[in-house]
Amino acid sequence: MQPDYSLSHYARPVLEPPQGVRRLLLHSCCAPCAGEIMEALQASGIETTIFFYNPNIHPRAEYDLRKQENIRFAAKLGMKFVDADYDTENWFARVKGMEHEPERGARCSACFDMRFERTALYGAEHGFSLISSTLGISRWKDLEQINRSGERAAARWPHMAYWTFNWRKQGGAQRMIEISGREAFYQQEYCGCIYSLRDTNARREESGRGKIERGVKFYGRGGEGSAPSLE
Ligand code: SF4
Repeated sequence: MQPDYSLSHYARPVLEPPQGVRRLLLHSCCAPCAGEIMEALQASGIETTIFFYNPNIHPRAEYDLRKQENIRFAAKLGMKFVDADYDTENWFARVKGMEHEPERGARCSACFDMRFERTALYGAEHGFSLISSTLGISRWKDLEQINRSGERAAARWPHMAYWTFNWRKQGGAQRMIEISGREAFYQQEYCGCIYSLRDTNARREESGRGKIERGVKFYGRGGEGSAPSLE
C-alpha cells in the first residue's frame, strides 16, 4: 500500500523567531533533516537562506549527493541556497586527536563549532542577525550540544543570535519522515565523517549486517518509516 504522505495528522505551528526577526540563515546538513524545517519556515513567512557548509562529510561522492538533494528541494521551494566550501583539510585539522571520540562527544562539538562559526561569519557578512541549524531535528543528535555550539558561534558577533528552536516537537519529527518519503530523499546511513563511517560499519559488521552501501537507499523506495539516520 502507498504510504500516506499527506501530513494531515499534524498541525504545523506558526513559527515565531526570537525578537521578531523575519530573516534567517539556516545551516543545513542534508535534505531529510532540512525538509520539514524548510517547509515550516516557509509556511510561517520567514525569509530563509540555506547555508550548506559540511566539510565533515566523507567521501566526496557522499557529500555531493547529500548536497544535490538539498539543492533540489531548495529549488522546489524557491529558497535561496548558499553552497559553501568543502574545506576538508581544515575539518581534519580541527578534529585532530579526536579520531576515536564517540558520537556526541568532543569531536562532534568541534565539528558543530566549525560549521556554525562559518555560518555565523557568512551571516555577519551578509546582514543576518539570526542563524540556526537543521542538525537538531535528528533524534541521533544531542540537541543541547548543538544549541550550545550554535550559541557560541553566534556570540562571536554583535547582534547575532542562534535560534534554539526544538524542531522535533509538535509533529516535526514525524513530518520530517513523511516529507523525506514524499520527496524520495537520499537516506544516508551514517552521520557523515570518515570516523562515523568507520564506527557505523564496525557496529554493523558486529551484528552481521555487512557494511553500508553508500548512495543506494532512498526514502519512499523501501526506506520510509524510519528516522533519517543521521544528519
Ligand atoms: S560523527 Fe557527525 S557530528 Fe560527529 S564529527 Fe563526525 S560528522 Fe561531525
